[in-house]
Amino acid sequence: MHAVSMLDQALTRLDEAARHLNLDADVLEKLKYPRETTKVRLMIRMDDGSRKSFMAWRCRYDDTRGPTKGGIRFHPDSTIEEVETLAFWMTFKCAVMNLPYGGGKGAVQVDPHTLSKAEMERLSRAYVQAFSKIIGPDRDIPAPDVYTNSMIMGWMADEYASIVGEATPAVITGKPIALGGSLGREDATARGGFYLVQRLAKELGLEAGARVVIQGFGNAGQHIARLLASDGYKIVAVSDSKGAIHSPTGLDIEKLLAAKKQGSVTSLAGSDGISTLSADDLISVDCDLLVPAALEDMIHKDNAAGVKASVVLELANGPVTPEADEILASRNIVVLPDILANAGGVTVSYFEWVQNRQGYYWPVEDVHARLKSMMEREGDAIWALAQEKGISLRSAAYVHALSRLAGAIEAHGTQQ
Ligand code: GLU
Repeated sequence: MHAVSMLDQALTRLDEAARHLNLDADVLEKLKYPRETTKVRLMIRMDDGSRKSFMAWRCRYDDTRGPTKGGIRFHPDSTIEEVETLAFWMTFKCAVMNLPYGGGKGAVQVDPHTLSKAEMERLSRAYVQAFSKIIGPDRDIPAPDVYTNSMIMGWMADEYASIVGEATPAVITGKPIALGGSLGREDATARGGFYLVQRLAKELGLEAGARVVIQGFGNAGQHIARLLASDGYKIVAVSDSKGAIHSPTGLDIEKLLAAKKQGSVTSLAGSDGISTLSADDLISVDCDLLVPAALEDMIHKDNAAGVKASVVLELANGPVTPEADEILASRNIVVLPDILANAGGVTVSYFEWVQNRQGYYWPVEDVHARLKSMMEREGDAIWALAQEKGISLRSAAYVHALSRLAGAIEAHGTQQ
């Protein structure tokens, strides 16, 4: 007997959503398996002249609704299964937002902190060389994810252009502005979650001065801290990969960002009444809004009972396990699910792709206004569906996405 795999665990959400829809069996058969996953061992030259190899993958989970879309992660613990699960989530995330995309994901199994900038560039270019036949502006469109950023996307876009012999900015999103990136992409994941919280604040019982705990202080964590602090929320605890800090009276956002720039938020401990705490204690800090913004499976059956927040905003992908979901639900804690809550990133990626194809670039105000209206439109629909059916927001988000996916699968006909 094998333990339940990560993808099987994620697929339980699909089964649960299917129970609320009258679906053709074909639909589930199509969505239960990744369509294709390619695995390549990348070989690069290190600065000291030696050669080193790294495992890399790209999964195109489902392309019924359009070219597959999803980030590339650089992480030492990445596995093929994680990539396929993340690609499954992208399939549903794009459908939740009604973007004309299917779902994909990629990863390189590497600790990027051990590479020099030049080694990182060679690795990024090697990835595109290996997967140049799989990606493409109408086929599969990568973007940043954990430990990848706009600089890496820039190198990848540059490599792709030299392989195909022409600038093709729409092959990858999250690029530097100078290479056809979109204004507003940098903070889009957090901003989408922020608009959602603002829209539903009254229903969720979040009032001015509500206390926030943020797990993970990368791109999503830093930007949500800044956006919530500027809206009057109080950030009381934050963690990064080095540790966690806590101040019941509130942390200063500028100091947090400055400390992170120097290495870690933990350097603030010891002054201004700031104490350190363990990663697990962070989850149970007294607060109103808990924001997991790091990796999968952070809130699980052994720590979910300790959560004090009344609302969880999932800026990470898959931070709450299905078992923890049940525990939180039984305690009336509302979870704003990842496939809606963190969809701002891929939504502005879509705007970037549209701008690249039009060759016409939007002011940041347009990006913000369009993102806000899309988050509100889909957030309202999912909220209403959850009320109507008496189900969780996560189930409602899956039902909402699944009905769009089912419509597309049927429209394609029987030959596919
Ligand atoms: N990596 C982000 C996500 O998980 C963004 C993907 C994209 O922009 O394509 O949603």
